[in-house]
Amino acid sequence: MSQGKFGFADTPEWEQAAQDDVLVAEVVFNLPLEKPYTYAVPEGLRDLLRPGQRVRAPLGRSNRLVTGYCVGVAPGERGQRSLKELESLLDRDPLVDDAMLSLTRWIGERYLCGWGQVLDSVIPAGVRNKSGTREVQYFQLSEQALALLAGQEAGGRLSSQQRALLQSLQQSGQPMTAADLCAAVGCGPASLSGLRRKGLVVPMKLRSELDAEAGPLGQTEADLQMNDQQQQALEAILKPIREARHETLLLHGVTGSGKTEVYIQAIREVVSYGRQAIVLVPEISLTPQTIRRFRSRFGSVAVLHSHMSDTERHRQWQNIAAGGVQVVVGARSAVFAPVPHPGLIVIDEEHEPSFKQDSTPRYHAREVARRRCEEARVPLVLGSATPTLESWLRAARRQDRLVSMPQRVADRPLPPVLIVDVRTDPRISRGSSIGRALHQSISRALQERGQTILFLNLRGYSPVVWCRSCGTGVKCPACDITLTWHRDRQAVVCHSCGWTSDPPLACPACQSAAVRYLGAGTQKLDEEVSGLFPQARVLRMDSDSMNKPGSHDEALGRFRRGEVDILLGTQMIAKGLDFPNVTLVGVVDADTMLRQPDMRAAERTFQLIAQVAGRTGRGERSGRVLVQTTCPDDPAVRFAAKHDYIGFAGHELAERRDTQAPPFSCAARVIFRGLDERRTREAAIAVAERLRAACRGELQSVRVLGAAPAPIVRLRNFWRFHLQICAATVEQVRAVWQAVERTLELPEDVEFAVDVDPINSR
Ligand code: ADP
Ligand code: ZN
Ligand code: ZN
Repeated sequence: MSQGKFGFADTPEWEQAAQDDVLVAEVVFNLPLEKPYTYAVPEGLRDLLRPGQRVRAPLGRSNRLVTGYCVGVAPGERGQRSLKELESLLDRDPLVDDAMLSLTRWIGERYLCGWGQVLDSVIPAGVRNKSGTREVQYFQLSEQALALLAGQEAGGRLSSQQRALLQSLQQSGQPMTAADLCAAVGCGPASLSGLRRKGLVVPMKLRSELDAEAGPLGQTEADLQMNDQQQQALEAILKPIREARHETLLLHGVTGSGKTEVYIQAIREVVSYGRQAIVLVPEISLTPQTIRRFRSRFGSVAVLHSHMSDTERHRQWQNIAAGGVQVVVGARSAVFAPVPHPGLIVIDEEHEPSFKQDSTPRYHAREVARRRCEEARVPLVLGSATPTLESWLRAARRQDRLVSMPQRVADRPLPPVLIVDVRTDPRISRGSSIGRALHQSISRALQERGQTILFLNLRGYSPVVWCRSCGTGVKCPACDITLTWHRDRQAVVCHSCGWTSDPPLACPACQSAAVRYLGAGTQKLDEEVSGLFPQARVLRMDSDSMNKPGSHDEALGRFRRGEVDILLGTQMIAKGLDFPNVTLVGVVDADTMLRQPDMRAAERTFQLIAQVAGRTGRGERSGRVLVQTTCPDDPAVRFAAKHDYIGFAGHELAERRDTQAPPFSCAARVIFRGLDERRTREAAIAVAERLRAACRGELQSVRVLGAAPAPIVRLRNFWRFHLQICAATVEQVRAVWQAVERTLELPEDVEFAVDVDPINSR
């Protein structure tokens, strides 16, 4: 240490201490890494940096600058002085609060992906890019200005423009933006800044135009008088709310039992405490009808859906974070809505597969909601007529509380479900989609002026383009998927990647001209039904016919007004629709679900039949359901016909227990993809071998299956291989994966993705 001119050390003692006291930041990047990186915080950022803000930091040997999220700031130790320094800070305020940091960290651990990847996915792009933010600032008059305008105070020197600004603000009677103010007076921004410096106008945060979007304030409809069953369900939910503790309640209520009214009245209580509620519904159910049910009851409801612009989403996000919204209704990602004081989360149609995200982070909104509610010590309500076996088992084990609503509102009966064995049906043998019994039932419904819903889970005209010579399906050139013939477009289409082409004149495999179209999609059904019932007004709803914004609602509106006799379509019409005049529901082909090579095929078939059956008998008129199948003895079909969820769940759980399949175990699927088949396969096999080697000691019971070709071995030109890690608990799965992941070396052109609790086996 050199001596200064006064004989003291150059740096005074107190400053020395301050320098030693290094500040370090933990930073995570959008990378599949489990651990945060540590950086030194440069002097200039010391007072500004907070967890939840984004930073630029040098990464790797090349020290290229990468954007990451600061997830922690702490005093460092002496040895850490050699750390790399943060380069810069990108945000003035944190983008997420501590609760969200903790939740996203948990998601990374639970779903085996990087914390930074989770943050990057959870924070909407619009929020990150600040699109449309140049925060609209509003100005209002200060107390001093009010006194001045009332002539009670002299005030300093004001220009005539400044005086005019104050007057127009007073006249408008409400806060105004800088732009509007200056325009009203015809002055530049300097005059306004002057007023601000003098403390005569004060900026304020206003929930800008959002109130209009959030719905009319104060014009809410009265709650319904609930029946005993609803009252009991409500009390069960209110109990943990009042005791300020977490509990997950599984609300098992048949279709039409009035679950929504129970949610609404539970939310009413939460809102009365000044807290906010989040209601998750499947994207497909986010219809104006659903939204109206909440908007008509609460003053401010925000809706989050997937086709919002970045700007719109950003404004909603800010408004929600400012506490300006009582109820957030949205699809999966609304589980992250930044409500400041969550009081309740509801997941309606809990069994819907769309609550699982199928890109990284592959979280399930139900589990994220459970965690969020645990941390906030508030209840989570899962509602369904056909709960997942995962939720059912938790309730059976009393980990969650079961609340049952076995009766429909007003004791309307559940409709009789008739299973029709079409194996010997003469019409079906001749290639028709509508068998004899269904044909008669439609005729009768038409005569009685009832409406009919026909459900078929295959869009297009013919789902299989097939070569009669060599017997192979004609596949998409980029995917291992047979093409579907769309007659209206005169084209064959790949339903995975959207590849479209003229129909093949010859089989690509054997060059034969014997290319045929097999099976029936919704388009062919439409044609057949229109031909069979020429007097009926038929409407088809699937993603092909409903591709214009608003067309979905318009179609449902026509059906509701009775302008349509027969509505036919894909699962788009199976969910949550509530039309009193539907007297017949036909499931055209129950086998399409049942034959899927998927562990959950039976569960999905049961759910589907129960859901579509729920679409009838909801009004004064009774209804019935016909299910066409070639597997009339299948347990899923049999239980569904009896509306016996409990019987089905018992049967299916016994089978899963015998095979130790989920929910009795936990699985993670690792999918590898690359453009080179051999390199991708070899990488997958090598990782599988290493994972197997890690299954020893305490992890001896963990099984690694594969690697094997994925069911769709080629998708969008990528080759796909997968493996599965199966264990008793998610902790074991994680331990095995992490033992290998740290030293994972893959060829540069092979990517992998980990899917914990996979529900998609493609
Ligand atoms: P679920 O969600 O359980 O299928 P809904 O909440 O859609 O059932 O309710 C079915 C119908 O019953 C809706 O039209 C709803 O307005 C009506 N409803 C619900 N509760 C009551 C009640 N207590 N009294 C009268 N009608 C009710
Ligand atoms: Zn051929
Ligand atoms: Zn394709």
